[in-house]
Amino acid sequence: MINRDTSLILIVDDDLSNIEIMNAALESEYEIIFATSGKQAIEITRKYAPDLILLDVMMPVMDGYKVCECLKADINTSGIPIIFVTALKDDMQAEIKGLQVGAIDYITKPINPPVVQMRVRNHIELQCARKKLRHLAVTDSLTDLSNRRHFDEILQSELNRLSRLHHPLSLIMLDVDFFKNFNDIHGHVMGDACLKRVAYTIKESLHRVADFAARYGGEEFACILPNTELIGAVAIAEQIRVNIEGLKIPHGGSQVSDYVTASLGVFTISGYFKSLNETVELADKQLYKAKEKGRNRVCFAELLKNDD
Ligand SMILES: [Mg+2]
Repeated sequence: MINRDTSLILIVDDDLSNIEIMNAALESEYEIIFATSGKQAIEITRKYAPDLILLDVMMPVMDGYKVCECLKADINTSGIPIIFVTALKDDMQAEIKGLQVGAIDYITKPINPPVVQMRVRNHIELQCARKKLRHLAVTDSLTDLSNRRHFDEILQSELNRLSRLHHPLSLIMLDVDFFKNFNDIHGHVMGDACLKRVAYTIKESLHRVADFAARYGGEEFACILPNTELIGAVAIAEQIRVNIEGLKIPHGGSQVSDYVTASLGVFTISGYFKSLNETVELADKQLYKAKEKGRNRVCFAELLKNDD
């Protein structure tokens, strides 16, 4: 397991002696992993998501330009900065081509260790700042869950995947019951504390790495469960409902319980193309049904295409 407290750098070069020189220059400050071919570089990048890649241009079979193009075309790896390392000294065309395919900088061979150290340090600092900004942009500051913007991004990318692969995708929409009354009676400070505990409980109720929870807005939360059939999604929704009730947060304004409860709508889709808004509406419909039926419950439906 790689310790991610320090930044992780991937060095790619078909010549081991170059890897050794760069490793010696950087290993005291960073975690280093390496690859000796373009194909291996792409595999390792997808697996470990390094913070920076030092990429040799001249390699047999798949050169650095191709590796760079491939990583920049994939949304999961496109944000990783790439520095090209090349022996093509003073070759303006090569430099332009490298920058065109998405490299952030250029280092020439023979490798000068202090130059490598300084360039890498600068780009790692920028990358850390970018990551912090990105985190702020996609995180709800009260609950620390993902925000609506991030939810939309993830759902859109899952729906795109769904149109290619016929895996089921489940969505849970959740509303805290009588939350306006809660705020009116207990005040907004308690209201915020309640939302934080509910958010934490939702997050703790999800177990798979790909499962995703967000604050959708106000007292509304949403979960995206990729590759999850209705029966599994309903089980998770019911567990969330039970766990929220189990917090036993006193609720003076609820008409259904002495404690804070939630209503949940689950919708599963497989083999159909639906837009982001349509998918959310379908789950929302189940949420409203749960409210109509008396709240503190889960309602669900699915839209499946059987290919056989
Ligand atoms: Mg080479």
